Amino acid sequence: MAKAKCKICGTELDTKTAYKVTDKNGKNKYFCSAVEFEEEEDRKKKVAEDKDRVYRLICDIMGVNEVLNTALWKEKLEWNKAFSDEFIAKYLEEKKEYLSSAIARLSGTEYAKIRYISAVLKNSLRDFKPNVEVVEKPKVVVDEHYETKYKAKVRRALEDFEEDDDE
Ligand SMILES: [Zn+2]
Repeated sequence: MAKAKCKICGTELDTKTAYKVTDKNGKNKYFCSAVEFEEEEDRKKKVAEDKDRVYRLICDIMGVNEVLNTALWKEKLEWNKAFSDEFIAKYLEEKKEYLSSAIARLSGTEYAKIRYISAVLKNSLRDFKPNVEVVEKPKVVVDEHYETKYKAKVRRALEDFEEDDDE
């Protein structure tokens, strides 16, 4: 009996009975079931779509086709420590007009604009309750120790931003 581990949950499987998917390189991958595989594919697709939605919204808010400064991705990692892209996208959608006009008034560089958006997000996401009839709960980390760390970081980020502003 040939054995393989499920690529999703790690369960040990018999390759004869497991659900098999052959990837584009001809390599076989095994899963507990077709359902488990499909659900994971859907999940990955949604994650990619949400990520793209956040990026497109930020481009719109900044009034550009593409954001060139990679600082955006560094900042985004910080947001994603506590909030899903789905949740961030909801916030950006609701505040799009407000943020766009605030950004339009900033005369700084692209970097300064990214820092501005990031400071707003870090400061506002925690208390944000989407207007829409959302059934799903946002993915928020509820870890006391972590919360404290995150707050400290937000304060730091805001201070940094204010310093930038005085230049
Ligand atoms: Zn599995």
